[in-house]
Amino acid sequence: MSGFIFSEKPIEIVEGDGAYVTDSNGTEYLDMGASYACVPLGHGHDAVQEAVRDQLDRLTYVQGSYPVEIRTKLYELLAETAPKTVDYTWLCNSGTEANEAALKFARSATGNSKIISTKRGFHGRTMGALATTWKDKYKKPYEPLIGDVEFVPYDDAEAMAEAIDDDTAAVIVEPVQGEGGINPARKEFLQRTRVETATSGAALIFDEVQTGMGRTGTLWASEWADVVPDMITSAKGLGNGLPIGATLCREWIAENYGSHASTFSGGPVISAAAHATVSTVVDEGIPAHAAEIGEYLREELRAELGDDVRDVRGEGLMIGIEVKRGANRILRDLAIDQQLLALPAGRTVVRLLPPLTITEEEADEAVDALGEVIG
Ligand SMILES: *Cc1c(COP(=O)(O)O)cnc(C)c1O
Repeated sequence: MSGFIFSEKPIEIVEGDGAYVTDSNGTEYLDMGASYACVPLGHGHDAVQEAVRDQLDRLTYVQGSYPVEIRTKLYELLAETAPKTVDYTWLCNSGTEANEAALKFARSATGNSKIISTKRGFHGRTMGALATTWKDKYKKPYEPLIGDVEFVPYDDAEAMAEAIDDDTAAVIVEPVQGEGGINPARKEFLQRTRVETATSGAALIFDEVQTGMGRTGTLWASEWADVVPDMITSAKGLGNGLPIGATLCREWIAENYGSHASTFSGGPVISAAAHATVSTVVDEGIPAHAAEIGEYLREELRAELGDDVRDVRGEGLMIGIEVKRGANRILRDLAIDQQLLALPAGRTVVRLLPPLTITEEEADEAVDALGEVIG
């Protein structure tokens, strides 16, 4: 077969239900990666499916310059549930676009160009967001990217404070690094970065594309860190599988964002998906469940895996298991021998980003499978 440039795994998934997916041979897998955190409510969640079907029937698309009721409701819901004062929303279709917008808004609102990112950070693959992504492998073939990006060591408050100056437009940071290996920041690092950016007039962007939607135990990780950034970017789980991204921002950013637009921004169907997802996550107390079951899962993993691994870490249901051999081989064995789907985060970390709705029994099943392969 020709015509595609995306490498594929030897399992064809044909159905999904809750925390499980089924392949074309009828084999069922426990999905502990939720396809990169994109289905926080599990596969085929009724409320989301219904909202999408209903909107699809009434109005699939109309250009963004006409108000649409469901999008207005989504704006209101995001403003209500985001940290106070971060109540303006720009909608797009993916994480990289949400960050792209955030970087543009920061440059426009501050009049500065310098952007500070972190080593091992991941912010997406379009030219602007890619420039703030750490890994050379992702960047080298496409250089030159946008200039004026400085990388500081993650979780190093002193280095961050030193890098922020009067010419800084933005600091972009993940409250817990995902792709970089599941590295939670200390609160003090995020809080100090908040103080320093506020002093210099730079915008603080929390990239919550992976940490958002309750993943780390609060709806937004910024709540857990007790920091109110100037912008929060979201995508991945925001539409429970439908492609939507958001850049939430404070008034000073919204009033000076420049000129930015996208044809499909906030289309009715994806807005319906996101509205149903966010309201379900909030109404059903999903973040608190993620905090509780996440702690349980980490404890059980530590007990089961012990010295066979270097570390089990994370926040809520964003969990990294640092293993002593290649993660990819382990992931293959987990899928083939144990019918468990998980993800890598670099070469030596097995990453778990399960649906936030998983039960204790499903967590136990995952621990047993991981014990069989790693232990
Ligand atoms: C996945 C991810 C992105 C990029 O999102 P896409 O939708 O793939 O463009 C950006 N930032 C973080 C933290 C991510 O995990």
